[in-house]
Amino acid sequence: MKKKGFNTTALHSDREGKPEHGVLHKPVHPSVAFAYEDARELAEVFQNKRKGYAYGRQNNPTIEALAQKVTKLEEGLSTVVFGTGMAAIGSTLLSLLRQGDHIVSSAFLFGNTNSQLNTFKELGIEVSFVDATDVKNVEAAIQGNTKVVFVETIANPVTQVADLEAIGDLCEKHNLVYFVDNTMTSPWLFKPVQVKASLVINALTKYIGGHGNALGGSVTDTGLYDWSGFDNIYDNYKGSDPAQWGITQIRKKGLRDFGAALAPEAAHHISVGSDTLSLRMDKACANAQAIAEFCEAHPKVRKVFYPGLANHPQHDRATSLFRHCGAILSIELVDSVDCFDFLNALEIVVSSSNLGDNRTLGIPVAHTIYWEMGPERRASMGVADSMVRLSIGIEDTEDLLADLEQALSI
Ligand SMILES: *Cc1c(COP(=O)(O)O)cnc(C)c1O
Repeated sequence: MKKKGFNTTALHSDREGKPEHGVLHKPVHPSVAFAYEDARELAEVFQNKRKGYAYGRQNNPTIEALAQKVTKLEEGLSTVVFGTGMAAIGSTLLSLLRQGDHIVSSAFLFGNTNSQLNTFKELGIEVSFVDATDVKNVEAAIQGNTKVVFVETIANPVTQVADLEAIGDLCEKHNLVYFVDNTMTSPWLFKPVQVKASLVINALTKYIGGHGNALGGSVTDTGLYDWSGFDNIYDNYKGSDPAQWGITQIRKKGLRDFGAALAPEAAHHISVGSDTLSLRMDKACANAQAIAEFCEAHPKVRKVFYPGLANHPQHDRATSLFRHCGAILSIELVDSVDCFDFLNALEIVVSSSNLGDNRTLGIPVAHTIYWEMGPERRASMGVADSMVRLSIGIEDTEDLLADLEQALSI
């Protein structure tokens, strides 16, 4: 049968394989343990000779259904899901890297990822932060011990777009694991496999779940990286098919040993939310484009950061790679407008730290999520004190524009 479209896949993947009791949604299985009538089968599951479930920390039918859905949406080979996006990133890096290895990372990162990579530095993994909007900076940072290049598609809050395609070619040339955080774009706007990513992160908490009611994260192996050339795979995980080595080690070392399992109830919320990913993102991105254009023309706004604006430094790259330019934008207000007064004057837009919710959320980034990193690192990331990040939701466009207009006229 012809390969199905994105939405059909999202909607019907729960029923693939054997439908349980004919139900449309994959049932929520809260059981931690799995019972076997034949103890030999249990042993075979442990020895990877038979597919099956051993213990809830490692897998569960509800969680596996979500993982398979993410694999299909990303057009990858295999996915492991975690309790949060941070757990997905951290567990993956911890399972693949060893002391003395080196990561080249974009300097423009989600604040907690920045913090996490700095922790890895303390543990003896080197990290170089570079401006990844130009592949030359990534190339210049590669060393003999470099194992991984880490980038986000659209970085938050300044919306830089990494040099995704050229970095993919570079990683291929140097046999590096190309690790792309696709949270801001989601597989509806962009599939990192198209730029030769090896591993794709999604914070399922954001657009894929979409409703701000469940935390989750995933890592998808695209199948492009040849793990037989990766030094750090343990012999135990070298099965007959090298394509599976990386994801097996992530599952065993990253998920089983560190234990940041996704709860089955959260997997259910995320899976239901993902049914409408494309509809929500189309609307949120259209709203974001309209708001970016409105803010750009407004005298109380000094700067607007949104890849959908023609003056954005990576506008051409964003429009050629992404279906839409995302639903995150940041603004810098003129000196006469205090960012807290502005946020407090908004009636529809909620002051909140999340993003990827259906509701439009605003946050003064320098004073909140980027506070801990200090003024120097903030300046290097282009985060001004007056910057407000807006995560645009799916409200009616006119209502959002009217809300911003009244709040800017205070
Ligand atoms: C939110 C986010 C994460 C972390 O996800 P959590 O589920 O909150 O842990 C990672 N990367 C990006 C780009 C994010 O926006």
